[in-house]
Amino acid sequence: MIKLSDVTENLALYIDSVSGQKHLRTTCLHRSGSLLYEFWVGEYVPHPTYLSLQIDHHRHIHLEPEFLQYLNHSCDPNVYVDVTHHEIICLRDIEENEEVTFFYPSTEWDMEQAFDCGCRSANCLGEIKGAMHLEEHVLARYKFTPHIMEKLHGTAPEQRPVNEPKH
Ligand SMILES: [Zn+2]
Repeated sequence: MIKLSDVTENLALYIDSVSGQKHLRTTCLHRSGSLLYEFWVGEYVPHPTYLSLQIDHHRHIHLEPEFLQYLNHSCDPNVYVDVTHHEIICLRDIEENEEVTFFYPSTEWDMEQAFDCGCRSANCLGEIKGAMHLEEHVLARYKFTPHIMEKLHGTAPEQRPVNEPKH
């Protein structure tokens, strides 16, 4: 693992020398509930991409600054991306030099590109495809954005896959 640069006063960009994958790490301790970073909307994209973030039922954006594309997914995330207030919030205490990760299905309903998660957390969900594909019993573990909450619990239950196992 090689440090490429400090991107803010509390975040640094690293590259894994084996996989070539880049990721962000903290450079100091962050307390649970604190603001890690305030982002802004780069551009609206007409269709979701592997880099885009869903901010409501129909809109997808690229995050700015650009280094936020290296905010990777984990099934045991330590930050939440608040798409209403454009804030990245710590879900728990984050030690210095921890990778910063969020839970992609917390903002994405149905992802363009599914992928096999390699987060190695004890509760890794395996294939990640978006919130609509999550099994009922894992939902309580995660914090979701309002537009995902609406779809999961509110207005559009018919959009959930009919063959989803019940727990
Ligand atoms: Zn995982």
